[in-house]
Amino acid sequence: MLLFDAHLDLAMNAMEWNRDLRWSVSAIRNSEKGMTDTPDRGNNTVSFEAMRKGKVGLCMATQIARYSKPNNPLPGWNSPQQAWAQTQAQLAWYKAMEQEGHLTQITDNSTLDAHLARWEESQLAHPIGYILTLEGADSIVDLGYLEKSYRQGLRAIGPAHYGPGTYAYGTHSIGGIGTKGKALLKEMERFNLILDVTHLCDESFWETLDNYHGPIWASHNNCRALVNHTRQFSDEQLKALIQRKAVIGLALDAWMMVPGWQRGISLPEKMDVGLKNMVNHLDHICQLAGNTDHVGIGSDLDGGFGTEQCPADVDTIADLQKIPELLAQRGYGAMDIVKVMHKNFLDFLHRAWSRPVH
Ligand SMILES: [Zn+2]
Repeated sequence: MLLFDAHLDLAMNAMEWNRDLRWSVSAIRNSEKGMTDTPDRGNNTVSFEAMRKGKVGLCMATQIARYSKPNNPLPGWNSPQQAWAQTQAQLAWYKAMEQEGHLTQITDNSTLDAHLARWEESQLAHPIGYILTLEGADSIVDLGYLEKSYRQGLRAIGPAHYGPGTYAYGTHSIGGIGTKGKALLKEMERFNLILDVTHLCDESFWETLDNYHGPIWASHNNCRALVNHTRQFSDEQLKALIQRKAVIGLALDAWMMVPGWQRGISLPEKMDVGLKNMVNHLDHICQLAGNTDHVGIGSDLDGGFGTEQCPADVDTIADLQKIPELLAQRGYGAMDIVKVMHKNFLDFLHRAWSRPVH
């Protein structure tokens, strides 16, 4: 069954981890033997081949680059212009993969419908569809750059990532969106961009909800009720998102799935973290909503972590095809499973993209 993955850092892996996603997962692992620059070396789970095997025929693919002001302890570029250039390098890689027939860019309902029809027909012969999303908006130097990005196919923006951003405060920071954030949201509305509330700190989250009138989703988020951390959404936040017709993509970063995870110490097998835990978070949202209309998958696989911090039953992204069976075991019906795997996000896109762009 087609899987829509709402969050994959494909170009970040290519351009910052130096991973050629045309190679198999095992070939990439072999090439990283002995490397210690990041904890996830040799533990990668994503390649085009593995995506095909997992029937990930369509995904949200990120551009991501942080601008770190002098007092920001997080790593990042020293100017928004450098961050912009990095996102442009990432875009150049997506375009090169289009040239090679591995990817095809989706930007509106007609390209979406054509892609879905062709994918249905012959999955192996057809490129994987991707929709550009920006994780953290620091690289938008000024609002003129937003228009440039829109013309390049950008269709969703998460205003902040980790730490204080130019337009909002992200995970592990505290603050509102200010005048710059409000101006960004206004311009996003003009282009009918999807607002991704993932990573917004609580204050920025609520201000954003009050100020944005366009389509809203959360690409990769889990529940605070199950794992208590500000990176996760409280029930109150989830209910507000449900009211706004959002879809929430469940994420597969182990620390967000089970309580008590210690980075670099805990092991997936020992912590007994599996896709079943993802289903717990998913089920929690469905219980709050009273239906299965607001959940999907935003795996974030290879988003700065690999098998060392993944569900134990995920070796590659192809293992996401275990999800339908797990949902069936928990009493989810055939239509509910289709909604989780792709339909909720596809319906959202169809709805969002039927609105006019000003
Ligand atoms: Zn993220």
